[in-house]
Amino acid sequence: LDFANMNNKNNGMLTKIHTRIRTDPFTANYELGGKELGRGKFAVVKKCVEKSTGKQYAAKFLRLRRKGEDCRKDIMNEIAVLESAKSNPYVVALHEVYETSHDIILVLECAAGGEIFNQCVGDSDEAFTEEDVIRLVKQILNGVAFLHRNNVVHLDLKPQNLLLTSARPLGDIRIVDFGLSRRMDSITEVREILGTPEYVAPEILNYEPISTATDMWSIGVLIYFMLTGESPFLGDNKQETFLNVSQINVDYSEETFQGISPLAVDFIKTLLVKNPRMRATAEECLSHPWLCPLTRPHLHSAPSSSSHRSSLDEPETSQSESEPESP
Ligand code: ADP
Ligand code: MG
Repeated sequence: LDFANMNNKNNGMLTKIHTRIRTDPFTANYELGGKELGRGKFAVVKKCVEKSTGKQYAAKFLRLRRKGEDCRKDIMNEIAVLESAKSNPYVVALHEVYETSHDIILVLECAAGGEIFNQCVGDSDEAFTEEDVIRLVKQILNGVAFLHRNNVVHLDLKPQNLLLTSARPLGDIRIVDFGLSRRMDSITEVREILGTPEYVAPEILNYEPISTATDMWSIGVLIYFMLTGESPFLGDNKQETFLNVSQINVDYSEETFQGISPLAVDFIKTLLVKNPRMRATAEECLSHPWLCPLTRPHLHSAPSSSSHRSSLDEPETSQSESEPESP
């Protein structure tokens, strides 16, 4: 299996943007901290401070040309999706946009807690508890349900694209990276789009139509990873990973899910379903007993023996019950 990068296809892309693209120098208005917040395939993200307000932001530098091709359309699509989701608190806020000779700079709300990835693989003292995961998953689903109601699919949901407002104390979710996002009602051809192998749904591997259910698969993989610290389909190489995905080769053993409530496992099983039509939707997920306050006390009857998460026996705080949480 060899997949090309997403590029040069217009289908499903949003093109209309409302944000004014500023051409005055970015550096006249922002002080760039030396600190790099992260980077992906085509972007570098740096911390910056707005001179007029002293407020911190994350500046995402997107190259206008990639591999010799003009990528303005991809960037406009990313901006348009951010604009369309600006009323949802769990989607990162877009503050301003600048254009230089080589880059478009997205000035984004800074999610200072970094990627949830770091706390999925951390030691027991820094890893998420199941209660943490429940709170964060509700926020992720709230954001994703919003996108889906607006006919937008993210298509690159993974721990590197889900950030936290703060790490300690554990803050709230900010969904970032809409570079692969598409509008469902105008998408026809998907061969060119592919996220990260570990998070990719079976229908993508089979060149079958993508849908909002494609995101739900990734969320299933994500929750598995947040709870266990293990990536369910990851093989020794790409081929093996793709084979695991297409065969839905998942380990639900008690050993892997030690100390995790059976409801959590049940929840994941509603998402890692081969047929996209049979997969739970974001709205359905939000009313699953695992996330429902009324059934939550059951969690505490499970012994918490695992070292990866161990605070299930702590009393529930009223804060984790409030929904929706404000940012
Ligand atoms: P790419 O499209 O290249 O993957 P992303 O938007 O995912 O770019 O940004 C790359 C990385 O930069 C992210 O994985 C994250 O670590 C960091 N990052 C992105 N946006 C922010 C933000 N608003 N606040 C803090 N860090 C960010
Ligand atoms: Mg990314």
